[in-house]
Amino acid sequence: MLLRRMGKVIGIDLGTTNSCVAIVEAAASSGAAQEKVIPNSEGARTTPSVVAFAANGERLVGHVAKRQALTNPENTVYAVKRLMGRKFRDREVQRQIELAPYRIVEAPNGDAWVRVRERDMSPPEVSALVLQKMREVAEAFLGEEIGEAVVTVPAYFDDAQRQATKDAGRIAGLDVKRIINEPTAAALAYGLDKSARETIAVYDLGGGTFDISILTIEAGVFSVRATGGDTHLGGEDFDQKLIDLLAQEFQDENGIDLRKDRMALQRLKEAAEKAKHELSSSLETEANIPFVATGSGGPLHLQRAIKRSELELLTADLVERTLAACATTLQDAKMSAADVDTVVLVGGMTRMPSVQKAVKDFFGREPSRSVNPDEVVAVGAALQAAALAGTVEEVLLLDVTPLSIGVETGGGVFFRLIERNRTIPTEASEVFTTSVDNQNFVPIHVLQGEREMAADNRSLARFELTGIPPAPRGVPKIQVTFRVDSNGILHVEAKDLGTGRIQAMRVTPTSGLSRDQIDHIVDEAEKFRDTDALRRDLAEVRNQAETLLYTTEQALEGYADLLDAGVVEAVRSDARRLRELLDKGGELSDLRQAYQDLEAAAFRIAESMYGGQQ
Ligand code: AMP
Repeated sequence: MLLRRMGKVIGIDLGTTNSCVAIVEAAASSGAAQEKVIPNSEGARTTPSVVAFAANGERLVGHVAKRQALTNPENTVYAVKRLMGRKFRDREVQRQIELAPYRIVEAPNGDAWVRVRERDMSPPEVSALVLQKMREVAEAFLGEEIGEAVVTVPAYFDDAQRQATKDAGRIAGLDVKRIINEPTAAALAYGLDKSARETIAVYDLGGGTFDISILTIEAGVFSVRATGGDTHLGGEDFDQKLIDLLAQEFQDENGIDLRKDRMALQRLKEAAEKAKHELSSSLETEANIPFVATGSGGPLHLQRAIKRSELELLTADLVERTLAACATTLQDAKMSAADVDTVVLVGGMTRMPSVQKAVKDFFGREPSRSVNPDEVVAVGAALQAAALAGTVEEVLLLDVTPLSIGVETGGGVFFRLIERNRTIPTEASEVFTTSVDNQNFVPIHVLQGEREMAADNRSLARFELTGIPPAPRGVPKIQVTFRVDSNGILHVEAKDLGTGRIQAMRVTPTSGLSRDQIDHIVDEAEKFRDTDALRRDLAEVRNQAETLLYTTEQALEGYADLLDAGVVEAVRSDARRLRELLDKGGELSDLRQAYQDLEAAAFRIAESMYGGQQ
């Protein structure tokens, strides 16, 4: 790869637990592209995504913030990524409230914010401090100012969450050139040099989330076939299992619940994580917390030997959950495990031997280890950054839409313009018409979901296309175009093909959708498939019936004089019966019958007219 000279754009993996910054540079000697993970001032290649607010107003980010968490838990914010673009009432936020020692409050607009030192801050403001730190790390290393970045997000971040991430970048003084999905970035780092066609599974188990993506790579073009995962599953859950075990045993022995004491809980957390790390390389370790509490007989210490097998048994259900998500995602991609050529492991948790073994057994092949699981996402982001800056050849990056998107049509039926798991950027358009004579505007209701009726799906936006010239129903042609850009943001345009008038908008949902919610939406759609189909058929027949009644009435009005009185009466009677059924909300089979009767009768109008001419 050869490089062209230009300004530098960095790649940032803004993680739940740790963040990492990388850059692709030209080597001084050869000019060849070189990926470089940038170490922070302490020499570490990843920086904890932790922000602390000291009593003197100072803001600490990274290792220094993490180190003082013990003595300042209320003002030390970690895992703020879980709150990005979310409403206070979201399940994800409620869960975080239970776990986090810092305060999470409801902002006036319903968003989840954090309260530190009596000041309310939005999650993008807190994330911005982490991004700013990463920017400073890069600037110190490169010796120049950096203003542009590519930032990664979990595959299932929705529009609001991506937007919040972009906002964080802006607050940090960074122009976020592109938001890309973490697993996609990993594949990018792994597959850039691959020339053969290959199917890759990216298994990403980090501190807070699990993502699985199935991608294909061919001639430098990446397409995500399907993504899935679980935003409620990560290394913290593994830690929690150990914390619960240690705390429960301590309580049984000493009658003190360490989880109720913030300081003790924090120390327990650190000990659990440390033990988990050690058990990745040794078969046994010891959790050791001296002076963890004070009992009636004086100070108490926690000391407990833990075997690797014990941790594996404790966390087997968590590993199993990741495999279940892998199975679903393969199904979505219409593939089986055997179709996958390479499995890439991402996230610190994939260092755990039982995770590696489970992945190997599931996919029937040894996972690739040529990439560093903590750094690969940032490297992928840096490669994309270099591509955008023109430093390296452009690579096409194709992600997918998590849910179908469409519009509400006659009778409340949901019409899909873009199906779920469609590769983005993508565009689709469809021509619609009016349902009433002389209708001078059409309401466009944009929705997202898998159900057949609009009302059962999630409303994203409503707007109107106005200024339609008077015309009978069914005549105007309104073209609706959906375009999902490479950041996963939807642009909707409605155009009156008669006048050329256009109404367009960019859709930013008001609240975030979690991975869980998306799964729930897909499950519901499956459950209601039959009843939904019936409701859709009913709505469609009613629609067709209205149209037939309208055209029949028009025909009778125009040609009644030319028609045989018997025919006219027969058509009128069938039309009356259909109208009655429509008005009283008749059943599908009755409506269909009445519709067919009127259709047959209406044909006789034509027959009798042609007959009269002969
Ligand atoms: P990430 O979000 O990718 O930085 O992943 C961080 C998670 O990986 C945390 O839950 C860490 O405790 C976990 N982790 C990091 N190193 C190891 C290791 N050697 N063994 C087990 N878990 C690890």
